[in-house]
Amino acid sequence: MSSKRGKLFILSGPSGAGKGTLRAIALSGVKNLVYSISCTTRPPRAGETNGVEYRFISKGDFENKINLHEFLEYANVHGCYYGTLRDDVERELEAGNDVLLEIDVQGAEQVKNILSEAVLIFIMPPSREILESRLRARGTENEEILKVRLNNAVDEMSKAASYKHVIINDELDRAAQELKEIILSYRN
Ligand code: 5GP
Repeated sequence: MSSKRGKLFILSGPSGAGKGTLRAIALSGVKNLVYSISCTTRPPRAGETNGVEYRFISKGDFENKINLHEFLEYANVHGCYYGTLRDDVERELEAGNDVLLEIDVQGAEQVKNILSEAVLIFIMPPSREILESRLRARGTENEEILKVRLNNAVDEMSKAASYKHVIINDELDRAAQELKEIILSYRN
């Protein structure tokens, strides 16, 4: 076991900004970086597996975990609960691994208040139009949910200024390289 505690990195950004893709590239390209799998009450999308993308749990189970203070942070995002389990994150940090969270702006603010050393990274789409076309091309949401996500995007993007780093995801390879370099720059 490493004697040095790991660092916590938080990725936020609107739905369709490319966080998931950038996260996957960072995880495969940076050693000793682990992803914390969130809990959510959102139903799984086609192709999603419980315990891989998320732990898909019921609203009752989620509220039970809230009452037991099991979450490092949690929030209602686009009408569903999402949360990070405290024990998962602590275990990895204590083992000396860096931990990557992909959470919304509300959750990032909560974590920053508890763990001020957390590094906040915002993934920004090049424009609102490109965000909408990416979200539509993804085809994972129906029109109603898509509208909610696009409306929330404006709000989320207004919080980017409070993030330590902002990466504009205009070109995937370049943005991924920037993300990896930011993470590595915190290691000495
Ligand atoms: P999606 O439903 O597209 O997978 O995620 C919707 C939003 O929820 C994204 O902005 C994502 O970053 C956020 N999210 C995912 N997991 C968590 C979490 O554990 N906590 C918080 N606060 N937000 C999360």
